[in-house]
Amino acid sequence: MKNTYFTPGPAELYPSFYQHLQKAMDEQIGSISHRSQRFQDIYKFADDQLRTLLNIPDTHGIFFTGSASEVWERVLLNCVEHESFHLVNGSFSQKFYDYANALHKHTNVLEKPFGEGFDAADIEVPEYAELVCLTHNETSSGVQMRPAEMHKLKRKYPKKLFCVDTVSSSPYPDLDFGLIDSAFFSVQKAFGMPAGLGVWIANQSCLEKAEYLQQNDTLTIGAHHTLPVLWKHYKTYETPATPNVLYIYLLGKIAEDFNRTGIDTIRRQTEEKGRMLYKFLDASDAYEPFVKQDRHRSQTVIVATTKQPSADVITAAKTANMVVGSGYGKFKESQIRIANFPAVSTEQIASLIDQLKK
Ligand SMILES: *Cc1c(COP(=O)(O)O)cnc(C)c1O
Repeated sequence: MKNTYFTPGPAELYPSFYQHLQKAMDEQIGSISHRSQRFQDIYKFADDQLRTLLNIPDTHGIFFTGSASEVWERVLLNCVEHESFHLVNGSFSQKFYDYANALHKHTNVLEKPFGEGFDAADIEVPEYAELVCLTHNETSSGVQMRPAEMHKLKRKYPKKLFCVDTVSSSPYPDLDFGLIDSAFFSVQKAFGMPAGLGVWIANQSCLEKAEYLQQNDTLTIGAHHTLPVLWKHYKTYETPATPNVLYIYLLGKIAEDFNRTGIDTIRRQTEEKGRMLYKFLDASDAYEPFVKQDRHRSQTVIVATTKQPSADVITAAKTANMVVGSGYGKFKESQIRIANFPAVSTEQIASLIDQLKK
């Protein structure tokens, strides 16, 4: 019997993935030139589908990278001359901040303990910060920052660039790209694909900043995948380096499937499944939701503290062919993480709850 993966990335593959992969093989996508019209059509198709799905306006380009963590470095190199500002409340937001330090940016940080979240009212962005680095869904602790709070913050600081890590939640968060300058994700989380592709969304303000920094001899925006070079190629739906053509093709197909279902339906189903899980955890004697504030509870990665060692829960689920994630870092042995991505159905979540009850 096959497993169902409730792990927060790599995760359960979207059901139509196999069919799209088979078709891609039949069409010999792995061998086509990335300088061909066929590739330009594939890029354009993925671009169109993602634009529709995430409501991305023409002010923003959509670029492909190796992974999401590559985008941490790209956005810091291309959009920060001196100072960045980070909200840190877990391991992934911490890594974004670590990258900024490693690139010798002057970093500003507002930290909260693991399991706690941010609201706009808590936050004062330092005067000289050029880029505000936010994490929509902190995968390590199961905390979300609501888009409305991000939008509120940007309205308070309209001149600063805002970049949002949506790696373990996109397409769930409804970001207003009239306000958000940049966002990014990887395909192995909520898009239900194997790992191997990052997607970077960035607007003209980010491009202008990169072009401005490029004129400065005392600083570098890097050599690989700079925003000006990505953008120049993007105009003809091309890429500077040989890209993961197969995955760009598959991402376009998955995004098309999501659009067929409709983003509103996907968001509603995510919330329904999330409600089922939190309701069960709240009522259970064996588990407790880790995140206390309802508004900070992630809809896509649900974290529970387990009364018994989490390894026992994970092993029991495994014998029923359900793979649940362990806690992150120091919570490895006391927590479980459950991904609530579009690839898992309401029925599968219900079966998982039945299993966790045992
Ligand atoms: C997984 C994850 C990343 C890193 O993505 P990679 O594909 O491993 O580069 C970054 N941020 C968050 C919130 C994540 O969950």
